[in-house]
Amino acid sequence: MQTIIAKDYFIFFENKTYENLNNFIEKSNYSSLFLLCDENSNALCVPKVLSEIATDLKIEIIEIEAGEALKNISTCQEVWSILTDYGADRKSLIINIGGGVITDLGGFVAATFKRGIDFINIPTTLLGMVDASIGGKNGVDLGNLKNQIGTITNPKMVLIDPTFLETLPKNQLLSGYAEILKHGLIFDKKYWDNCKNFDFDNLEIISTLIHRSIAIKNEIVNQDPTENGIRKALNFGHTLGHAIESYFLESENMLLHGEAIAIGMILETYLSKEKKLVSDLEYQEIKNIIKSKFKTIYFEDYQIAALLDLLIHDKKNEYGKVQFVLLDSIGKVILNQNCDTAAMYEAFRDYKLD
Ligand code: NAD
Ligand code: ZN
Repeated sequence: MQTIIAKDYFIFFENKTYENLNNFIEKSNYSSLFLLCDENSNALCVPKVLSEIATDLKIEIIEIEAGEALKNISTCQEVWSILTDYGADRKSLIINIGGGVITDLGGFVAATFKRGIDFINIPTTLLGMVDASIGGKNGVDLGNLKNQIGTITNPKMVLIDPTFLETLPKNQLLSGYAEILKHGLIFDKKYWDNCKNFDFDNLEIISTLIHRSIAIKNEIVNQDPTENGIRKALNFGHTLGHAIESYFLESENMLLHGEAIAIGMILETYLSKEKKLVSDLEYQEIKNIIKSKFKTIYFEDYQIAALLDLLIHDKKNEYGKVQFVLLDSIGKVILNQNCDTAAMYEAFRDYKLD
């Protein structure tokens, strides 16, 4: 599968991945390697990476506890301390092996340690492959506010090894699938048509989807790396989706990122329909497809009120206004849209209906 060229790094696929990693390490004159992982990626993915890496450099493994709840600054502090204890210097390389939590936190740790050291992402979840590991955004949560602290710093390379998905639980696969659907909705109607009926029992074709999704994200990021314009398109479904994710972050019914974003995409398509940007038919199609794959959450009015409150703190607000990315028919977006709170309540009400 063809290598994708990002702004200043490469995204390698399948068989070429480890060969490229070894060539890169050999020519880069690093002093030491650190593999950052959580307990699941350590057990299921790190052994393969270790068996493929050919180097005489010292390799240390840093394992953190899995889960979004620990994507915070105290975990970063622990990792910075471990790096220091193990003598990491400006010529050390961090390889992040895990899902979006690891690549987000590891990228941020690397971008800030000694004012920035190199890092490579090896995503091991579908969401990590098609989204989190690409595009340079990294960071951690602040309380229950998602991704409030972070930087935009590119990795030195990203390696996609879809065999890691063989051990990924179905709900985690679905979480990544939400971002795949988003890529179709915002950028490419044909791609939406291709992936809307994707069969999870056939992981073979998933490589093709991963490749196309990364290509779409990369094309958008290349046009606008610092998110002043078109990169905002990637936030479709995320304005309300993030508020939903934040709201449930500390509850027993925590939602996975993609599960929250799937709901956000239905709600924000409803807002698009209210503004006559998409037809009722398109809205029904998107709602039906997404609801057939993801569980429906029956929000109470007080919950809607609380999570709309959280919206005010969303990092994408500019000048105190909540700005939406809406769909302008399937495959196209329109940026910087304001919406009434009443329309948002309506969107939640309609989402619950079959
Ligand atoms: P995650 O990193 O928590 O991984 C999900 C679970 O899968 C974890 O329990 C993990 O240990 C486990 N896991 C990882 N690889 C596995 C494998 N191969 N087999 C079995 N289990 C495995 O979550 P995620 O969904 O990958 O990422 C979500 C995070 O990504 C969120 O914090 C979100 O904010 C972030 N994100 C960032 C960006 C970005 O541009 N930086 C984009 C999208 C999402
Ligand atoms: Zn997302």
